[in-house]
Amino acid sequence: MASAIKRKGSQPAPTAPDEPPFKKILIANRGEIALRVILACKEMGIQTVAVYSEADRNALHVRFADEEVCIGPPPSSKSYLNIPQVIAAAEVTGAEAIHPGYGFLSENPHFVEVCQACGITFIGPNAEIIRKMGNKAQAKATMLAAGVPLMPGSEGIIETVEEALVVAEQIGYPVIVKASAGGGGRGMRIVNNPEELPDLYNTARSEAKSAFGDDAVYMEKYLLEPRHIEVQIMGDLFGNVVHLGERECSIQRRHQKLIEESPSAALTPELRQRICATAVKAAQAVGYYNAGTIEFLLDKRGDFFFMEMNTRVQVEHPVTELVTGIDIVKEQLRIAAGQKLSFRQEDVIQKGHAIECRINAEDPFKFTPCPGRISALHFPGGPGIRVDTAMHQDAVIPPHYDSMVAKLIAFGANRTEAIARMRRALDTLVIEGIKTTAPLHRRIMDHPDFISGAFSTKWMETFMEDLKRDPAGDPR
Ligand code: ADP
Repeated sequence: MASAIKRKGSQPAPTAPDEPPFKKILIANRGEIALRVILACKEMGIQTVAVYSEADRNALHVRFADEEVCIGPPPSSKSYLNIPQVIAAAEVTGAEAIHPGYGFLSENPHFVEVCQACGITFIGPNAEIIRKMGNKAQAKATMLAAGVPLMPGSEGIIETVEEALVVAEQIGYPVIVKASAGGGGRGMRIVNNPEELPDLYNTARSEAKSAFGDDAVYMEKYLLEPRHIEVQIMGDLFGNVVHLGERECSIQRRHQKLIEESPSAALTPELRQRICATAVKAAQAVGYYNAGTIEFLLDKRGDFFFMEMNTRVQVEHPVTELVTGIDIVKEQLRIAAGQKLSFRQEDVIQKGHAIECRINAEDPFKFTPCPGRISALHFPGGPGIRVDTAMHQDAVIPPHYDSMVAKLIAFGANRTEAIARMRRALDTLVIEGIKTTAPLHRRIMDHPDFISGAFSTKWMETFMEDLKRDPAGDPR
C-alpha cells in the first residue's frame, strides 16, 4: 500500500531562492522596527547595516545586523535624525538602499532628496509624494480634488483667530484645531464653544511650532464618537495600487493608538469594499508607490472621512500581515528595487482575525513613561502569537526615545479566538523591573465592550474614568 508520507528522495528539489532585491541595505531606525527589517533581510539574503546612538550600543538591532555604525550621542536630533551621519554610514559601508522604518526620517522629504542625490535608494515613495501627503492641510486639498470624502472644515490653513471663529461657526462646534505638520497626536485642540477658541487656537499653534517647527494649523468638525479605520495600501512603480484591507485603531489614549486589529468589527462587507476602494483612489490620485496608509474616521451612520495619509510602514502593520499572509516589509524592498507588486488585488484575501497590543514602558494607570532596566523577561509564544520586539533580559530602556517595549500580536480563526489567545499571551508575559501597559491590556481583553466590538476613539477615556472610580479596577 502506498504510504501517505513521501519518502526521502521523493521530494522535488528545492527551487533556487529569488534573487535578493538588494545586496546590502542600511536601516535608519532602532528598536523593534529596525529588527523587523533586519529579519526580513535575513530571509531574503540581504546584508544589513545598523546605525545606532551611544544609548543603543548594546541594542539587539545592532547585534543582529551584519555591520553597525555609531552615528552620534543619544538625543535623536544628534543621531537618528542626523542626515549627514546616516548618509555617511551608508556610503562607508556601501549600502545601496535605506529603510527608514517609522518615525525619525521616514517622512522627511529632504532626507529622501539627499538619498537620491547620493545615489542611495530610499525604501519608500519619492519626496514629492511625501511633501504632498505630509502636509495635512495640503493633503486634504489634494483629496478633495480626487473626490475623496473629507471632514467639513477649513479650506487649508487658518491664519487668524478671527478666521478661526468664522470657520467654526460655519461648521458648528465642537471643532478640532490640528497642526498641519502634525503627528503622534500632538498639536491638536478640541474646541467646544467660541469663548474657548482664541486660547486653544493659540496653544495649538505654539505647540505645533515647538513640536514640528511649523505653526500652521487647520480646522475640522470634531466627531464625538468616531472609529479610526485605516487602510493599508501598496503600490509599485508601474502604477499598480492595491489595498490590503483595513485596520481598526479606535482604542487610543490621547490620540495615540494602543490596540489595533484587522478586520474591523464595525465594517459590513459593503462598507469595507467602499472604504478600501476609496483608499486606493486616494493613493492613485498622488501616484503612490511603496507601503502607505490612508486613515479615515467613521461616524455612526457609516459615513467615513479622510483624515491623513502616512507614507511609510505603520507600527501596526503586523495585524495586516497575519490576516493577509503578505510580508509588507519584504514587499517594500522589492518595490524599491523596481520590481512589480508580487500580488494582484484579487490575490489579497483577509482570513482570520489579528489583534495587536502595544506594550509600552509606562505606568499603566497614569501613562507616565517608566524607562529603566528589565530585570526579568519572558515573552509568550505558542499557536497564533507573534511578538515584535527588540527587548532582552537586562536591556535598558533609554529615556530618549518612544516607550514601546513590544508589540504583542495574536491571530485566530476569528475574533473570539484572537482575544482568547491575546488573554493567554498577556497572562504568560513576564516583564519585571519596569512598569508596562500589559495589565491594562489584560483588562481591556475582558471588557464586554471590547468583546462585543462596540467602541469608539472615546472609549478609553471612559474606561480610564471607570477604573479611577473603582479602586479594585486599578490595573496596578
Ligand atoms: P496624528 O497624525 O497626530 O496621529 P491624526 O490626524 O491621525 O493625528 O488624528 C489622531 C486621532 O485624533 C484620530 O485617530 C482620532 O482619534 C482623533 N481625531 C483627529 N481628528 C478628529 C476629528 N475631526 N474628530 C474626532 N476625532 C479626531
